[in-house]
Amino acid sequence: MVDRQAEFKKLVKDIENHTCSLRAGCLQAVPGEGNIDSPVVFIGEGPGRVEDELGRPFVGSAGKLLEEILSTIGWKREDVYITNVIKCRPPNNRDPLVPEVEEHKPFLERELELIKPKLIVLLGRHALQWFLPGEKISDIRGTAKRKGKYVFFASYHPAAALYDPKLKATLISDFKKIPVLIKKIDDLPPSTEDESALQTVLFG
Ligand code: URA
Repeated sequence: MVDRQAEFKKLVKDIENHTCSLRAGCLQAVPGEGNIDSPVVFIGEGPGRVEDELGRPFVGSAGKLLEEILSTIGWKREDVYITNVIKCRPPNNRDPLVPEVEEHKPFLERELELIKPKLIVLLGRHALQWFLPGEKISDIRGTAKRKGKYVFFASYHPAAALYDPKLKATLISDFKKIPVLIKKIDDLPPSTEDESALQTVLFG
């Protein structure tokens, strides 16, 4: 039997020890963390200054807000798995470039392969663009979308909601749907459509 914890440890080591084009400009790589048996994985953009310093995802002000929003559905950060599209902080917090996202892609793929989440929550446009290119947050947030083997649920990035109470309220109301969705996902009929097609499921 595969020892998932051992596999996860190996993945964390590989992330910590990798070299990439961003590595020289940041303090350390930031692997995902949390419960590898969680049915839900939250994916942000990439480490910010505090994450770069501490080597953990979502531990700065956006992370505090994420924890606050999780608490509104009775969850703690350690109940779920939290990660980012890229594991190294870009210089001056600029947006990651496409080749940088490509370099980091195998890590997120390995995280998802190991955890096999029922639901992937995409926080903000970078995570959204990677999985559902061409979609806009404002159009699809708060709805469940199935593509290939995963079901996705997009919402705003908590950093966007830090100074905007309306976006914070939207994030809270989107998050309320997550526990309900997870219960319903098991009852989904098998996908009959083309694997690459985007299907709206459950909440329509
Ligand atoms: N923003 C992100 O997208 N990820 C983090 O880990 C922190 C801030």
